[in-house]
Amino acid sequence: MDAIFADRVKKVPRSFIREILKVSLDPSMISFAGGMPNPAFFPIKELAAATSKVFSQAGAVALQYSNSEGNVRLREQIAARYLKEQGITVSVDDILITSGSQQGLDLLGKILLNKGDATLIEEPGYLGAIQALSMYRTEFVPVPLLPSGVDCEALAVSAAKSGAKMFYCVPSFQNPSGLSYEEQVVEKVAELAKKYNFLVVEDNPYCELRFRGTPVSSCYKYIPELTVLLGSFSKIVSPGFRVGWIVAPPKVMDKLLVAKQATDLHTSNFTQQVLAQYLEDNDLDRHIARIKECYGHNCEKMERVLAEIFPAEVTFTNPDGGMFLWGELPEGMNSMELFDYCAKEKAVFVPGEPFYTNDNPTRTFRLSFSCVNDGTIVEGIERLKKGYDTYKATL
Ligand code: PMP
Repeated sequence: MDAIFADRVKKVPRSFIREILKVSLDPSMISFAGGMPNPAFFPIKELAAATSKVFSQAGAVALQYSNSEGNVRLREQIAARYLKEQGITVSVDDILITSGSQQGLDLLGKILLNKGDATLIEEPGYLGAIQALSMYRTEFVPVPLLPSGVDCEALAVSAAKSGAKMFYCVPSFQNPSGLSYEEQVVEKVAELAKKYNFLVVEDNPYCELRFRGTPVSSCYKYIPELTVLLGSFSKIVSPGFRVGWIVAPPKVMDKLLVAKQATDLHTSNFTQQVLAQYLEDNDLDRHIARIKECYGHNCEKMERVLAEIFPAEVTFTNPDGGMFLWGELPEGMNSMELFDYCAKEKAVFVPGEPFYTNDNPTRTFRLSFSCVNDGTIVEGIERLKKGYDTYKATL
């Protein structure tokens, strides 16, 4: 049977997150594993109102095929947000609506990667990108992530050696580490992109979820001609809508459009129209402020409880936004092994392994703070500590 499968899918890693979600279905489990936004903030009533308005005012149009680039009103709203939030001027023509930013990754793989082409990627890196680009049989060149952002010295060496066409990064509150780039790192990345002629693919779905610290520029500010931006409504409105976007320079956009047409003609016209209506009728800033307040509170609470309960030999990052904290176990421990001990205590997280492009055992792990509360944070971290103690006693 295996003979029927194309080479490109033979080595693609399965999504470990999906496996963990199965374990998390047990109602007695406290999960820090999910990468999902908190459903309490889905604007259900507002989206229902927007839906009924679209049906009554433009039902036939919304239910018809549409253009591949995406709804113009929605693209104008996205361009306006880039200007307001990040101070960058993006033309509506440079925006293509995609079915989630995950599709943006797939389209980029499709138009840029031949088998064996190198892709520079942060280590650890977003596992959805590893999965999507693996399909195009790319050779990943991992570049370490430091607390200030990607290691630029290593990036320079790897870019020179590999001749990679792109560097994929998540510069704000990265999934999985929660780390963000400092301004001088962004500047340096832009300088290296120019020098070694690679595209910087900035995937920034969490960028508006900053609950502390100061915002940092996008590479687009320095090198718009070499920057591709991936964006998404998943973390700020709803992931079920599957609406994201990609901003690319004109030549790249031409190819992306062809790839988009070949893939699905266009993203659901109906959901785009509903989203555009929702954005017109509601205050997105106010909505995002509520999400940030909750995530910021949860993150601080988790940091405090982790520091109280865990010994200093286990370290954690201190993200300024987003949904994730990243832990590291002391030498000699393995986070995949820890997972089993913690799951027995009914608390789960995501071991670091799927976020690396090699199969080495890791000491790192991801904790999500989006869907927990004060009670589950305290109880869940106590359970993790019990699992940790039992595991440690076996070593
Ligand atoms: N990029 C990153 C860094 C993510 O964390 C996610 C969602 N987990 C995505 C892309 C995919 O998001 P979307 O729902 O927009 O496809």
